[in-house]
Amino acid sequence: MKLKDWISPFYVWKRAFEKPFTVPKPLDERPGSSRYRGFHKNDLEKCIGCGTCSSICQNHAIDMVPVEGIETTKGDSGLRPRIDYGRCCWCALCVDICPTTSLSMSNEYLWIDTDAEVFRFIPGAENKPWDNVQEGYTREESYHIVDPERVTMEMLPPDERVKSFLEMVKGYSREQAQKEADRCIQCGICTATCPAHMDIPGYIKAVRENNIKDGLKLMYETNPMPAMCGRVCTHQCEDVCALGHSGDPISIRWLKRYLADQVELDDYAKAMLVAIDSNGKHVAIIGAGPGGLSAAYYLRLLGYDITIYEAKDYAGGMTRYGIPEYRLPYDQLDKDISYILSLGINIQYNTRVGEDITFEQVYTSFDAVLISVGLLTPYKMEIPGEELPGNISGLEVLDMVTRGEKVYFGNRVAVIGGGNVAMDAARTARTFGADVTLLYRRRIEDMPADEEEIIDAEHEKVEFITQAIPLRIEQTEDNKLRFIFGLAEMVDQGDEKRPRPVLIEGKEHSIDVDMVISAIGQGADFSFLPMHYEALFSRRNQLKIDEFCRTNDPKIFAAGDIANKTKDAISAIADGHRAAKTIDHMLQKEGI
Ligand SMILES: Cc1cc2nc3c(=O)[nH]c(=O)nc-3n(C[C@H](O)[C@H](O)[C@H](O)COP(=O)(O)OP(=O)(O)OC[C@H]3O[C@@H](n4cnc5c(N)ncnc54)[C@H](O)[C@@H]3O)c2cc1C
Ligand code: SF4
Ligand code: SF4
Repeated sequence: MKLKDWISPFYVWKRAFEKPFTVPKPLDERPGSSRYRGFHKNDLEKCIGCGTCSSICQNHAIDMVPVEGIETTKGDSGLRPRIDYGRCCWCALCVDICPTTSLSMSNEYLWIDTDAEVFRFIPGAENKPWDNVQEGYTREESYHIVDPERVTMEMLPPDERVKSFLEMVKGYSREQAQKEADRCIQCGICTATCPAHMDIPGYIKAVRENNIKDGLKLMYETNPMPAMCGRVCTHQCEDVCALGHSGDPISIRWLKRYLADQVELDDYAKAMLVAIDSNGKHVAIIGAGPGGLSAAYYLRLLGYDITIYEAKDYAGGMTRYGIPEYRLPYDQLDKDISYILSLGINIQYNTRVGEDITFEQVYTSFDAVLISVGLLTPYKMEIPGEELPGNISGLEVLDMVTRGEKVYFGNRVAVIGGGNVAMDAARTARTFGADVTLLYRRRIEDMPADEEEIIDAEHEKVEFITQAIPLRIEQTEDNKLRFIFGLAEMVDQGDEKRPRPVLIEGKEHSIDVDMVISAIGQGADFSFLPMHYEALFSRRNQLKIDEFCRTNDPKIFAAGDIANKTKDAISAIADGHRAAKTIDHMLQKEGI
C-alpha cells in the first residue's frame, strides 16, 4: 500500500468542516419545451366522463372517479379521470384520444413532495401550479385518432323521393358498416341515454367483428324491434355520442339496422335459440303497438301465456298506421312483429276493448293486464270552419294511405303543426304531387319534429310559414278551402320556458288550398275504461304509473305513449320491457 492511500481519509475529514456544496433544486429553471408532455390538466366542464382516456392507457394509470359537484346527466357519466404518476409514462395517448379535447398536458414536469399519495390526483379538481400554464401538449383540433366523419348513408335524392313510397335510406354494405363501427371508441355514454339501455358498444363491436348473430341476440336482450328502430328511432344515443364533440356521432341507428337486415326472418329462430317453458300464468295486453309488443315478447320468454287485444287489423300501432312506408317499409316492420308473434303469442285483431269485449271481462280473465293503447285521438284546432269537408287530421290521412284508401289531396295542401305527424303528413302529400305549405305557430327551432324530418321536408320543397296562428277556415266560391291565419310575435317567458307566440292583432293572411291537414297533437281514448278506474289517471291523456309501470290497481300496468313523456317508439319498447319484468316479479315472487 502506498503512503497516499494511508493519508487520503484525512483529506476527506478536512472537507467535513467546509460549507455544503449541494443545493435542493437545480440552480437554473429549465422549463419543458413548448410541446413538452408534463402534468395533466383537465377542463372539468368540457369533460364528459367517457373514460376513453382510462381505457386507452396501457399502464392503467387512469381510473374514473366521482367528483363532488359533478352530476350524472345525459351524455355525462359524472366521473372524471384520476391520474397515477407512479404509473404514467407521459405518452399522451389519453390526450390524443380525448373526444372533447378537455384533457391536455402542461409543460410542467417538476413536482417534489415526500408524500407519495399526492402523486395520484384528479386534474382540474385540485388546484395545481400548472393549471393556467398555456404551453404543453394539446391535441390539435384537426388531428383525430378516429375518423371524425361518419360513413355517408346513401339516400334517394329528394326529387326521386317525392315520386314514390320507396324506402329513402338505402342501408350500409358490410364494408361501410364495418368502417363506421371502427370509429366507435366503446365508451358506452350512449347506453345510459338510450331509453332501453341497449348495449350499443356491444352490438357495434359485433358489426366490426362480423359476429352478426351475436349482435342480433344482444340487441334482442333489450329491444325486440331492431328492424323498425334501426330505421326510425329518434336516436337519443347519437345526440350524446362522445364522438359528436369533435366530429360526427356514430351512426348508431344505421348500424342497428345493418345487423337486423343481415338475418332473414326464417333464420331468426336458429340465431336466437330461444326456449320457452310455460308457467301457466296468463297476461292480457291491450294494444299491439311497440309498447304492447315489447311486453308480450319479454313476458313470453319468461313463460307467460299472452293474449293481445288489438283494435286494428294489423299490429304495430303508430309505427304501422302513422309512419309512412318511405321511412319504414311494412315488410321490415312485419319482420319484427312476425318473430315476436312466432314465439306463441295469441293476438286477437279487430278486437277493440270497450266495444268487442269489455275491460271487466279482460280484467277478470287474466292474472295481469297491461294497457298500451297509445294516443289515437287527434286534437282539434278549435277554430271556426273546422267541420268543413276537406279539413282532416294528419293521423287520418296517414292511416288512410297505409290502408291503401284513396285520398284526394288536390294541388295544394296546408298542413298545420310542427311535429313528426305534421312532417309525415306534409311529405306524404308531396308524394301525391301536391304543393304543400306547412304552418306552425312557433319558430323552426321550436318544432318538436326531429331535425332530420324538418330538413328532409325542406329538401322535398315543403314550404314553411312559421309564427302562424290558425284563425278560421272558409269555403271559397270555387269549392276550395281558405285557411286564414294571423302572425305572432314571440314573447320571452324567462330562461326556463320557451318563448310564447302572441297573435299580432289586426292583420290576417290566407292561403287557398284543396285540403287542410291538422296535426297539432293527439290524445288518448280511455273510454274503454269503466268510470271507477278514474284513480288510474294522473292528468289528461296519461295513466299514472310509477317507475315500474304499476298503476294504482295492483293488477293493471301501463306502457308506451299513454304513460311516458318522450312519446317515441324506443321509449314504448323500454316501458314494455320494464312492465314485463314488474309483472313477472309481482306474479312469481309476491303474487298480485
Ligand atoms: C305519424 C307519426 C310518426 C311517428 N314517427 C316516429 C318516429 O320517427 N320515431 C319514433 O320513435 N316514433 C315515432 N312516432 C311515435 C311512435 O309511433 C309512438 O311513440 C309509438 O308507436 C307508441 O307505441 P305505443 O305502443 O305506446 O302505442 P301505439 O303505437 O299508438 O299503439 C297502440 C295500439 O293500441 C291499439 N288500441 C287502442 N285502443 C285500443 C282498444 N281499446 N282496444 C284494443 N286495441 C286498442 C291501437 O290500435 C294501436 O295499435 C310517430 C308517430 C306518428 C303518429
Ligand atoms: S377522454 Fe376526455 S372527455 Fe373522456 S373522460 Fe377522459 S378527459 Fe374526460
Ligand atoms: S357509439 Fe359513441 S357514445 Fe356509444 S360507445 Fe361508441 S363512441 Fe361511445
